[in-house]
Amino acid sequence: MDNVREAYEHLEKKVLNYNPGLNIQRLRSAFEFAENAHRTQTRKDGSPYITHPIAAAEIVADMGLDEDAVIACLLHDVIEDTSIVYDEIAKKFGVSVANLVDGVTKLTRVVYTTKEEEQMENLRKMLMAMAKDIRVILIKIADRLHNMRTMEYHAEKKRREKALETMEIYAPIAHRLGMQKIKWELEDLSLLYLDPVGYREITDALESRRETFDSFMQSIQERISERLEESGIKCKVYGRIKHIYSIYRKMYSQNKELSEVFDLCAFRVIVDSIADCYNVLGHIHDLFKPVLGRFKDYIGTPKPNMYQSLHTTVIGTEGIPFEVQIRTWEMHHTAEYGIAAHWKYKEGIDRHADEEKFAWVRSLLEAQQDTDAMDFVQELKINMFADEVFVFTPSGDVINLPAGATPIDFAYSIHSAVGNRMTGAKVNGRMVPYDTELQNGDIVEIITSGASKGPSRDWLSIAKSSEARSKIKQWLKKEKREENIIHGKAAFESELRRNNLMTTFTEREDILPAILKKLSFATLDDMYAAIGFGGMTATRAVNRIRDELIKAAKPSHDKLLLDRINQQPAEAQQKVGKASNGIIVEGVENCLVKFSRCCAPVPGDDIVGFITKGYGVSVHRSDCPNYLNSRARPEEADRWIRVSWANSGKESYQTVLSLTAKDREHLVIDIATTLAAIKAKVRALSVREIEGGLAVAQISMEVGDRDELRFAINKLSAIPGVNEVRRGGV
Ligand code: MN
Repeated sequence: MDNVREAYEHLEKKVLNYNPGLNIQRLRSAFEFAENAHRTQTRKDGSPYITHPIAAAEIVADMGLDEDAVIACLLHDVIEDTSIVYDEIAKKFGVSVANLVDGVTKLTRVVYTTKEEEQMENLRKMLMAMAKDIRVILIKIADRLHNMRTMEYHAEKKRREKALETMEIYAPIAHRLGMQKIKWELEDLSLLYLDPVGYREITDALESRRETFDSFMQSIQERISERLEESGIKCKVYGRIKHIYSIYRKMYSQNKELSEVFDLCAFRVIVDSIADCYNVLGHIHDLFKPVLGRFKDYIGTPKPNMYQSLHTTVIGTEGIPFEVQIRTWEMHHTAEYGIAAHWKYKEGIDRHADEEKFAWVRSLLEAQQDTDAMDFVQELKINMFADEVFVFTPSGDVINLPAGATPIDFAYSIHSAVGNRMTGAKVNGRMVPYDTELQNGDIVEIITSGASKGPSRDWLSIAKSSEARSKIKQWLKKEKREENIIHGKAAFESELRRNNLMTTFTEREDILPAILKKLSFATLDDMYAAIGFGGMTATRAVNRIRDELIKAAKPSHDKLLLDRINQQPAEAQQKVGKASNGIIVEGVENCLVKFSRCCAPVPGDDIVGFITKGYGVSVHRSDCPNYLNSRARPEEADRWIRVSWANSGKESYQTVLSLTAKDREHLVIDIATTLAAIKAKVRALSVREIEGGLAVAQISMEVGDRDELRFAINKLSAIPGVNEVRRGGV
């Protein structure tokens, strides 16, 4: 326990050193809180668990992060590994610390599986975007670095897994954030577990030539130092052997032995000003012969991760090439700690130049003009992927969608067939409404069914990606054809009926091919679609049929058939009986007509009239159960009379629809939206729950005719979760 206390005190001293304003009591109570929370746990090496958060916090302190970040790092495993919850941390250490711990916990829970490079890139982006606050990533990197340093105590399998994840996810993130020193260490530690033999080969070879390297580096270092001292340039010169993984990569990518890899040594000259950098470069090129094409000016043109330095490769005394990096102290800290150094050494930096070199946080910097360095870090959010969201498929693939994307976008990004057959969506195992906004790291599962009615038009306003929208539109266009066919068929049949040709036509299907050929349609559906679309009138089609029927009847002198064909159309009868309420009652003029409530007929329905005792004629559908029952009763049989629809088309007719659906949020809104979209005249809409998690909606509405009603039923049926839409009340 003394070791633990010592380790903590070392940390405290380190933080106090760069942050004299530290609230020591607060840091200490975070340490004690974490120590207590982890008290029953030990690390693989047998030491108390708290040694890990302290060591990770040391790394965070090396980065120079603020008090909240150091505290959050001490607490980073308590939500994941102990019974402590968010609220407790928020109460004790504030919401800011609690959010950081929560963020690290979420990253820890992301499941990693090996994927192709493109997938890895998305996974990296997802982690960055999930973190929201850059400090979450930095704490996570510190956590991972310490775990990698102590990985030897783990089983072989776990070591390899973690090493691979570190190599593919965390080292590139460290690189992106410009944290060169940490990136190197992560890479070397990963390599140690991924290819221990290759790793040892290099370290052994380097070790065996240690003396040669040492004396070589020392002599070069001295020559450079002396020369610069003579010239009055204040500087520090360091020599080092490049990190193992970079040597390893060179050996394997160029298929070389270590002895064939030159350029193993690198020197670093650190000076006070940019002007001195270029001065030093001149002296270096004067001392040693530069290798052509190897000079790079990352001061004039910084790397995207804001790295700056002058790089040159020169040939040393024994013909051995080596690299020299020349930079200022500020550039050096930036190179070591990347974004973390950004606020640490912010004081006294030309802010404008600073913005230039770190393009992706520029907008944030501009918004932060007047806040001090510590506030800046609090506000610094990763907004580089603000317009994207990264989610998982159930099998762990990362899908990249525009921000605000919904399960509909997700489904169509998998495949249009998945979108078109979607009947439900789960996010993190829970059923969600289609308009749910997906969050980074969500696991999204789409439920499909062959019985799906396909996308509905309102999906277009829910989908955020142009891909999903265009696929939905494509489907609707195809569906429109089906709608057109339905409309066209109804219009055609009604025209046939009006001309009393319905029966005749169905009896003489053999004339159909000739008719279609005359009208230039391949199929009957094509003809219906054209009628529905308005490309041809139903009258024209029926006239054609009449002609064909006459032609067919003539050779056989089919008297009966001809009689039927030449029968007066209904229109002629209409002139005899005067329409009342849109209805022509056979043989009766100006009678009172009302529509029965039981079946609420609309134009296009086959109808019959019933002479009531007080109110004239009541109109029923010919398939109305009341009519069918009544007809069976002899005493009522002669009260049923023939009625037909007048051709007015201007009136509207009230009808009732019942809709059964899975009871869910927004159901009423979806129904109302759909009804509004088709401009239905709704008189009343009520929804109530019934057993089995279902809901029943009763919709009283006015429609112009049967086609309009069919259209409405069609649309309502397409609402997600709707099982059935039928005419009549409940
Ligand atoms: Mn940890």
